Amino acid sequence: MTEPAISVRNLTKRFGGKTVVDDVTLTVARGEIAGFLGPNGSGKTTTIRLMCGLLQPDAGRGRVLGHDILRERGAIKRKVGYMTQKFSFYEDLTIEENLAFVAGLYQMPARRQVVAETLRDLGLQSRRGQLAGSLSGGWKQRLALAACVMHKPELLMLDEPTAGVDPKARRDFWDEIHRLASDGLTVLVSTHYMDEAERCHRINYISYGRLVAQGTVAEVVRNAGLTTLVMSGAATDRAARLLEGAEGVDQIAPFGNTLHVVGRDAAALRRSVERIAQQTGTEVAAADTSLEDVFIQLMQGAEDNMA
Ligand code: ADP
Repeated sequence: MTEPAISVRNLTKRFGGKTVVDDVTLTVARGEIAGFLGPNGSGKTTTIRLMCGLLQPDAGRGRVLGHDILRERGAIKRKVGYMTQKFSFYEDLTIEENLAFVAGLYQMPARRQVVAETLRDLGLQSRRGQLAGSLSGGWKQRLALAACVMHKPELLMLDEPTAGVDPKARRDFWDEIHRLASDGLTVLVSTHYMDEAERCHRINYISYGRLVAQGTVAEVVRNAGLTTLVMSGAATDRAARLLEGAEGVDQIAPFGNTLHVVGRDAAALRRSVERIAQQTGTEVAAADTSLEDVFIQLMQGAEDNMA
């Protein structure tokens, strides 16, 4: 069996007195697109930096691309492409000039050829002469991706690469990620968009520095053990008020003219919902639990733990 691209155990990082990454154990197989999900400030960026050799953990160990994360950070950095949340370029240089600059910075051999190949592979050829400062968000992001795959990394770490990019550009970006993965690249991508989580082979959900769910989307949804009921009818507003605090009801969320009601205790949830449905003359139907329902539940659970 080939060694996983990432295999880290019990990673912990503290800043001041605060534990920002707390005992994180994570494995990412070669060629996998692994999603890294979690609310802002939950420790995603810090974990990524620990894994790509930019930060030293306070505890824990592991290997990335066959190298020890404590002792071989230089080797890891050379094999990883890291796209930070706020990627930057020279706005007064063209796409091609920006890439040539990066290639020079890393002293890549055959720079001209590498830049030409990158422009072609990332679909940037038609805009090679355009100033980076005049590009839309989606094109800027494509340029950032080009800059971090130019040295042919084996692993891409993308930190919220699609924040603030429109839906069409996000979709194109994900198509590109899948293309790179099918060429053998391993990708770890952090996001808080639900639809993007669903485009990953596996997801890892982190909250307050702790990994609280891992697996395929289907596994994460199944393991959460939630039941979801949908109420519809004219009086869903009143039903929502009555459901507040009712036994078995963990979440209440309006979706258009319907109400999604979610809970861990299926029997108690059903009793409460059916009682209130009768009082308000609303209809009840069973529904599939969504990944979003699960994430909200995980976030609520983590807040309770912190309190
Ligand atoms: P995320 O990427 O999930 O938004 P981060 O890893 O950026 O989370 O941050 C987790 C927590 O660690 C935040 O509370 C943040 O303020 C804190 N933090 C991150 N980097 C540093 C640092 N260099 N010094 C002190 N605190 C930090």
